[in-house]
Amino acid sequence: ALRIAHILRNTSAFQGKDVVVQGWVRTRRDSKAGISFLEVNDGSCLTNLQVVLERDRPNLAALVERLTTGSSVEVRGTLTPSPGKRQSVELLARDILLYGWTDPARYPLQKKRHSFEFLRTIAHLRPRTNTLGAVARIRNRLSYALHTFFQEEGFFYVHTPIITTSDCEGAGDVFRVTTLNPTELEHANDESLYAQDFFHKPTFLTVSGQLQAEIYALALGKVYTFGPTFRAENSNTSRHLAEFWMVEPEMAFADLDDDLALAQRCLQYVVSDLLEHSWDDLQFFARFVEPGLLESLKAVKEQPFEVISYTEAVNLLKKSKEPFNFPAEWGSDLQSEHERYLTEKAFRRPVAVINFPRDLKPFYMRVNDDGKTVAAMDVLVPRVGEIIGGSQREERRDMLLEQMNRKGISLESYAWYLELREYGSAPHCGFGLGLERFVQFVTGLGNIREVIPFPRTPGHADF
Ligand code: ATP
Ligand code: MG
Ligand code: MG
Ligand code: MG
Repeated sequence: ALRIAHILRNTSAFQGKDVVVQGWVRTRRDSKAGISFLEVNDGSCLTNLQVVLERDRPNLAALVERLTTGSSVEVRGTLTPSPGKRQSVELLARDILLYGWTDPARYPLQKKRHSFEFLRTIAHLRPRTNTLGAVARIRNRLSYALHTFFQEEGFFYVHTPIITTSDCEGAGDVFRVTTLNPTELEHANDESLYAQDFFHKPTFLTVSGQLQAEIYALALGKVYTFGPTFRAENSNTSRHLAEFWMVEPEMAFADLDDDLALAQRCLQYVVSDLLEHSWDDLQFFARFVEPGLLESLKAVKEQPFEVISYTEAVNLLKKSKEPFNFPAEWGSDLQSEHERYLTEKAFRRPVAVINFPRDLKPFYMRVNDDGKTVAAMDVLVPRVGEIIGGSQREERRDMLLEQMNRKGISLESYAWYLELREYGSAPHCGFGLGLERFVQFVTGLGNIREVIPFPRTPGHADF
């Protein structure tokens, strides 16, 4: 069988030819003139292929009634020019094989727009909708483009662990991993029980691969990791998941300016790639979800970020007449309402905020000469807010030690991290880019639960 996307990309080559397609019936229309029209979608693209059935063909007549919405079929026929305006070609059916019939009275996906809340309750069927299908294809292309970008920039893909004793210091709340059974767990507060556990120590699901990526950056020069990340974010927001995907580049002999430039090139590359390869899906989102979508994507492609310091950002927010729920104040983190103001009103494009207060950020970020700020960067985009968090890392052993003491980090657990600063230390930097935040940005979807196949949030881990 051929994929519909392939046929539609090469209509002139397949014109008049016999083809076979396999997919799911979206709708059927029976016209009086003895003809029925099927819209068949095979997931390869947004567009359905129109199948024309002549009901008087003996092998089709008996079958037509059973070609209901949701049924899976294989269609053999000839590709012909379509007289209709909505498509250039259609498939004149000669033979149809019904694989799996769907009872139209029970099929949850009726021909109407369902709410996203409802679709989440049928995660096993929602990828058959236009929206979730398009999201899945965009996630795929985005992941592929990210890999291509880093590979072309000379980064090596390293696989950092999922289970670790490191909690990456305050990046988020951690999930405990244990091999203890429920009865043993009842007493798990007792330190001695860790000894019975497979790992002999408290272990967690990774909240970031950064610290391990640093090890490899200080050996291979440029590396990235790309995998699932876990944070027990115990609140319901439209941009936090308990399980999400993050790409984390890390490079040696590089400073914050290099980090900013890398993030800039990365966003430009990936957005350009999507505009080229996911055009139909993006247009769908521009039409049905976010009218300003294509403009904001083109702006990323054509304009550099606005780079401002945290101090400048706070001053700007203070001067604005915007009625924030939390007024901005030097020393506290930017709220999502602040991030949106900066990208949607103040600058109308992505903004990189750099040099955050030392006490706001984790111990590994490099302390600036002022002693008050660290070489951090948050890249913010319209509608979503923070999509990238990064920094230059503290490469000076003494300063790192001071930071660890100041923040109460266990010198024992992170001895290896300190030791990296004793043997051939080098300036280095990196960032974490949240895949789902990026998908939110390029689709305009407001809720992060719609941009991942199986969202994990408080109370939700089914499917
Ligand atoms: P936020 O301020 O939005 O909570 P963060 O500063 O805690 O994010 P980082 O530790 O900097 O996040 O992680 C790097 C990137 O990972 C973020 O910029 C974001 O794109 C993404 N990210 C972080 N937490 C989540 C989450 N819970 N769900 C989805 N993506 C996330
Ligand atoms: Mg957070
Ligand atoms: Mg943040
Ligand atoms: Mg951050």
